[in-house]
Amino acid sequence: MSAPGPHPLWRPYTQMKLAAPPLEAVATRGSRIVLADGRELIDGIASWWTAVHGYNHPHIAGAVADQLARMPHVMFGGLTHAPAERLAARLTALLPGALNHVFFTDSGSVAVEVALKMAVQLWLNRGETGRTRVLAFRGGYHGDTMGAMSACDPEEGMHRRFGAYLPTQVFCDLPRTPEQDAALDAALARHRRDLAAVIVEPLVQGAGGMLTHPPEVLATVARLARRHGLPLIADEIFTGFARTGSLFACEQAGVVPDILCLSKALTGGTMALAATVATTEIFSAFWSDDPAAALMHGPTFMANPLACAAANASLDLFETEPRLTQARAIAARLEEGLRPLARLSGVRDVRVLGAIGAVQFATPPDLAALKSRLVARGVWVRPFGDILYLTPALTVPDDDLDRLIAAVAAEAGAVA
Ligand code: PLP
Repeated sequence: MSAPGPHPLWRPYTQMKLAAPPLEAVATRGSRIVLADGRELIDGIASWWTAVHGYNHPHIAGAVADQLARMPHVMFGGLTHAPAERLAARLTALLPGALNHVFFTDSGSVAVEVALKMAVQLWLNRGETGRTRVLAFRGGYHGDTMGAMSACDPEEGMHRRFGAYLPTQVFCDLPRTPEQDAALDAALARHRRDLAAVIVEPLVQGAGGMLTHPPEVLATVARLARRHGLPLIADEIFTGFARTGSLFACEQAGVVPDILCLSKALTGGTMALAATVATTEIFSAFWSDDPAAALMHGPTFMANPLACAAANASLDLFETEPRLTQARAIAARLEEGLRPLARLSGVRDVRVLGAIGAVQFATPPDLAALKSRLVARGVWVRPFGDILYLTPALTVPDDDLDRLIAAVAAEAGAVA
């Protein structure tokens, strides 16, 4: 084996020996990324689905600059601050039902870890030991930390090699058919003594391949979890904040989860922040005279004031700018531009849900070649597996969106 090259920077999901060097970004504006060599790419995926307002929105930049001058960070143990208090109050007012208690962390994966810990400790606090597992769905993705990985699709290559180190969860197919409904019901019954919760990505399994499902499927998951007395954890880290055409995906199924995870677009994609929101019923199980019944979690940078200021500014934009209308307009354009590609022989499926459009190829393409052709077309679109997808900023101008769709269509045509 040759000695490793001089790479002080270790990159995500990357075989450092084989990968092409990354492109250097030097600036962002609107829905564009500016490269060091002066090229501008139209961003079709909003930086891993985060930048819903486009890049560099002056309202968020201003809020963060003001907060930076006042108090960039302060520890959250024993102290509180207005940006976090305000954000928690606004989130609980926006969310349906009794989702009234917000625990802030700094990434989606950790928001999921906290949700899992809430679920497990909830039962411990109620005096039921042994409920240490969650029921999760095949095709799911919940993050890269140990607990979150344990709830990801068990066959999926990225995490499979860690199997021996992870808690063993219970897996089912999403209940799309009466047989799958029955199988889920039976699994919940069979594991009734060892399950702590059910975890699901509402309406679309994102990193699992942009696998969409109708609201009725989510409603069935919620109904069966409730029938078996289990809390439902909705992982809205991808879907939250208008991506699916409603502010939160759960709304489309009329489902109120017991625990909800948010991140990504929470700050409009500007700062690392996540939230795990629990209902009053969940919170009550931790409300006790016993100090050991407290939720045992507390990341150093939780509720970072800069990130909370960014999130408050992002929520302002949802109030003052027409994001839901924009998401629905993008959906219509994706439908019109991508749906006809389903007729091509090289295309297995086309899926559109809100401002998410995915084309699944019949056979996995050469990803490295595809990625560089997309850059040559002036777009930043990152295929994975056999999927090429668009999740642009909700503010993407029409002609940029048309160029993104045209790039995807050209690639789909090329494999036909
Ligand atoms: N959950 C879902 C549904 C996600 O899509 C992701 C990230 O893509 C995560 C959790 C993990 O979030 P993060 O990458 O911020 O840890």
